[in-house]
Amino acid sequence: MLQSYFDTDNNGHKSFELPGAKPHYNPDRPGQVEHIFLDLNLDIPNQSYDGTCTIQLKPVRNGIDRLTLDAVSLNIHSVQVDATSTTYDYDGQQLQVHLANPTQTGQSIKIAIAYSVTKPQRGIYFIAPDKHYPNKPVQVWTQGEDEDSRFWFPCFDYPGQLATSEIRVRVPKPYIAISNGRLIDTEENSDYKIFHWLQEQVHPSYLMTLAVGDFAEIQDEWNGKLVTYYVEKGREEDARRSMGKTPRMVEFFSQKYGYPYAFPKYAQVCVDDFIFGGMENTSTTLLTDRCLLDERAAIDNRLTESLVAHELAHQWFGDLVVIKHWSHAWIKEGMASYSEVMWTEQEYGAEDAAYYRLLEARNYLAEDSSRYRRPIVTHVYREAIELYDRHLYEKGSCVYHMIRAELGEELFWRAIQTFVQDNAHHTVETVDLLRAIEKVTGRNLLFLFDQYVYRGGHPEFKIAYSWDSDSKLAKVTVNQTQNDLFDLKIPIAFGYAQGDVGAYSHAPLHKTFTVRVNEKEQSFYFPLEEKPQFISFDANNNYLKTVSLEYSVPELKAQLQFDPDPISRIYAAEALGKKGGLEALNALAEALKSDRFWGVKVEVAKQLAQIKLDQAFEALVVGLNDENPLVRRAVVEALSNNKTYASYKALKPIVEDGDSSYYVEAAAARAIGIIAAAKLEEKPKEEKVLKLLRSILENKAGWNEVVRSGAIAGLSQMKTSAETLDLILEYTRLGVPQALRLAAVRALGTISTGQSAANLDRILERLTELSHESFFLTQVSVVTALGQMETPKAIAILQALATQSLDGRVQRIAEETVAKVQSSAGSDQAVKQLRDEIDQLKKQNQTLMSRLESLEAKASK
Ligand SMILES: [Zn+2]
Repeated sequence: MLQSYFDTDNNGHKSFELPGAKPHYNPDRPGQVEHIFLDLNLDIPNQSYDGTCTIQLKPVRNGIDRLTLDAVSLNIHSVQVDATSTTYDYDGQQLQVHLANPTQTGQSIKIAIAYSVTKPQRGIYFIAPDKHYPNKPVQVWTQGEDEDSRFWFPCFDYPGQLATSEIRVRVPKPYIAISNGRLIDTEENSDYKIFHWLQEQVHPSYLMTLAVGDFAEIQDEWNGKLVTYYVEKGREEDARRSMGKTPRMVEFFSQKYGYPYAFPKYAQVCVDDFIFGGMENTSTTLLTDRCLLDERAAIDNRLTESLVAHELAHQWFGDLVVIKHWSHAWIKEGMASYSEVMWTEQEYGAEDAAYYRLLEARNYLAEDSSRYRRPIVTHVYREAIELYDRHLYEKGSCVYHMIRAELGEELFWRAIQTFVQDNAHHTVETVDLLRAIEKVTGRNLLFLFDQYVYRGGHPEFKIAYSWDSDSKLAKVTVNQTQNDLFDLKIPIAFGYAQGDVGAYSHAPLHKTFTVRVNEKEQSFYFPLEEKPQFISFDANNNYLKTVSLEYSVPELKAQLQFDPDPISRIYAAEALGKKGGLEALNALAEALKSDRFWGVKVEVAKQLAQIKLDQAFEALVVGLNDENPLVRRAVVEALSNNKTYASYKALKPIVEDGDSSYYVEAAAARAIGIIAAAKLEEKPKEEKVLKLLRSILENKAGWNEVVRSGAIAGLSQMKTSAETLDLILEYTRLGVPQALRLAAVRALGTISTGQSAANLDRILERLTELSHESFFLTQVSVVTALGQMETPKAIAILQALATQSLDGRVQRIAEETVAKVQSSAGSDQAVKQLRDEIDQLKKQNQTLMSRLESLEAKASK
């Protein structure tokens, strides 16, 4: 019972495989699809279209007399084979075409399927204004990955089939249609225009796309190829600001991957209500229009730049070199995510790249500890989309980095280039990457793949250190605290701080030894001429791992100050935060003022918030004036954990007067809500905070509703207020800008835990209504809200979503959330009261400790 509240260490990981998961294989191939031709006629006002899908297939053998195509919820009008009508069976899922003349090896046949689609639910999406959102643009766009192309045209819908493709589409004026490859023809009359696109390089069905709208077209160029940005009219400047680095990225990746950009053009189309961040359709990436930055958002939003790099990297990893089966999707998603790191390195330097990599690793680690653990490569699942998780992307990225560290710079890139060159326009599996590495370098990295790719988990290290001054020996004890032991060769460096430490470099200040770590506990002894000032375990931090550093404060202080690797400095900051005490606090305070890298300052701010001493406030508040908005944001968030009246007074001016960064303003709005809701002796009046946040809601509409969403998050903290609930409910109605509305939906979960039974029913009723909306992000927000509730009544709504949502991602998180709610709904009032009492005791203890630490500090001066 108590475990559900006081999260204890749980070695047992939940299973990735939900009930109903089973092995998935590519189907038997009747032959090679050579070409797919869609000739479509869009009726946009009626959200429908009709046309013909013609598939040219070269049979692999003689005597095949029926073909099975994927085709979901289409109206099939007729099927012809080589221009002769033929019979077929259609069950709404698969189309069986009967061949009057059985196949002959190598003799291609043409299957022409006349069909129509009305109000499609997946695959192709019609976006239109309605009475609630009269300014919404008219758009049509598609999303094939993973297995949704079958919802908009009949196909052999798995990535193992590569073919050329062609889309001819008639659209009403003034809309334009963008698709894969190059525009080979247009025709028009007074009412409509026909766009005819041809993709001459083979690619899989999931990468075929169509985007239609009244877009502005902005033209750029790389090496004589068109680079275009399509956005809603009026956002041309935002388009250049957000995507303008694309030509430089095309050059960068062409060099790195050793293969010039392979397609005739590169288009990026920003579409409304997109259900992913971006999708790398061959030569025509679709992006959510929420990635378009205005001038202020561009100050501290790097997500857009990373998104652009990620989707572009897929043009090589995914589109040029295609995965044969979803189980190997990490090959492309891992590299696209690692390409974000590479671009960060290129554009912002090594420290930014290292930090980016740490953040990626943490995303994976969070999923591993709180959701499930799985091998990166697995073909057991319910739907392929479940694989698109933090193991696939972020852990995959970390694996690529480990390969790079293992091979070294030159050999790594040669291996990657060979992999791309050898497999261009073909499909690959994980083993093909191993083969390319071995071909170029002679190295067999199966040991690394076995530990990090083919099985779940990562090493969790606990490191202790001591110095024997008589024998001048450094002793480092390494514990692997996880169950499955890892066997790795890890560099341990001893650092000396003299000399110039301003530059980001490793060698000059270190003495490095490499040791084999392969047991539960090992102690290593290193003879050194002088006592080192700090120890860098896994110098450069190339391995994916967790570490807990059990060094004494002086070593940690020196590491925080002098270790050239920002990740090591961050680990030292974490260890100091865990140690607590005034000496640790002072070291962190100094780093917040003077570390050269903003990422370390961000992490230091988090650690300062962890130290329960009143002095932490003084240390943190200085950071509100940092010139880097990312640091200011971290400090604001840290102050929301330092729940004091002083913190409130420091944050209030940011809420009232603003900050150059939207994100800082949003964080401050949230923070004052958190502090107002805390149990403090001296604190702001809730009504005053409510009034302030209400004024934000009334006056601060703006880019992507970031600031107003912050205000909603702040309001949701005032959990016992009925007035606040009314206000939040008001913002969940249709007509409220979508981003703000979604924030309000999520906030219903946060605020629910303090509300009366009657109000709880109102929240549940609202969430039930919202759960019937079909938009993906609304459903996700509903699940998020329900996941925070502590009532078993939330479970029925979740179960309905788990079975009825058309989106595999929603089904999965809804099902996972049921379990979460079941455990939190089990906790009763008595436990809550107990927790409140413990919080009070902690607070009193903090006051005493703070006084004691000050006295000691004074005494020792
Ligand atoms: Zn991707």
